[in-house]
Amino acid sequence: MRRPPERQLRNQLIEFGRRCYERRLLVGMDGNLSVRLTEELILCTRTGCHKGMLTDDDLVLIDRRGNKVRGQGESTSETAMHLACYRERADVEAVIHAHPPMCVAFSLAGVSMARCVLPEVVLTLGTIPTLTYETTGTSALAERVAEAVRRFDAMVLDHHGAVCVGPSLLDAFCKLETMEHVAHIMKAARDLGGVRDLPPEESERLRRTGLLRYGGPPEAVAMVDQPGADLPEVCRSCSGCGNPSAEGLVPEAGFTVARVTHASPILARVDGSGR
Ligand SMILES: [Zn+2]
Repeated sequence: MRRPPERQLRNQLIEFGRRCYERRLLVGMDGNLSVRLTEELILCTRTGCHKGMLTDDDLVLIDRRGNKVRGQGESTSETAMHLACYRERADVEAVIHAHPPMCVAFSLAGVSMARCVLPEVVLTLGTIPTLTYETTGTSALAERVAEAVRRFDAMVLDHHGAVCVGPSLLDAFCKLETMEHVAHIMKAARDLGGVRDLPPEESERLRRTGLLRYGGPPEAVAMVDQPGADLPEVCRSCSGCGNPSAEGLVPEAGFTVARVTHASPILARVDGSGR
């Protein structure tokens, strides 16, 4: 594939680091960004730099094994996590890890964001899982992300932050913005009385349309003819999938762990089956 030249990708890393900071998706030395330069080389932020004030000197070139090729300082402390995303997904060209505060708050509260509530999110992301906690900067966290990124483009890291991947830095940044936007909307809805899910049939229809129209993680695309197969049970219409309004665990291959809880009983189902 044809990639932008290095100069352009460097400018994009600097620009999207600044935008992440200005949008309050990270603060201080938090987070890290990377982009593929070639099949073998990845340009990433160095460890211990302010993402809102990035300069060329804060960018490090590494190979697919994490060895530094060029640049000052060491590559990001989450290098293994970034490399895992590129290793698992040939279609991924950019990775952004940030600490969006409302998404992190949902994980601290044990409230899952893996719901089907906004059509544009179901179309483009499916749902947003929360990965079980692993210590920052470890290979265990990288493996947790590697497992999930096969099926998801945007993930919450329990007690930590978020990871988004995409075919460009702009795409990954949009997903990150969307995650935090959804979290704010869900928080507002909870404050107003509860979050109503889309009807399962509509969620399944939207997801199929989205995968066919926009593509997505290869494992999700492979399941496009199985209605809602890449959605959590709360979004599916299949029998035995449980009641979308029920409290409890949302088990999704071991990486959606947050409890679905409601500040107050859920309002009427959108399909009219409630009050
Ligand atoms: Zn982090």
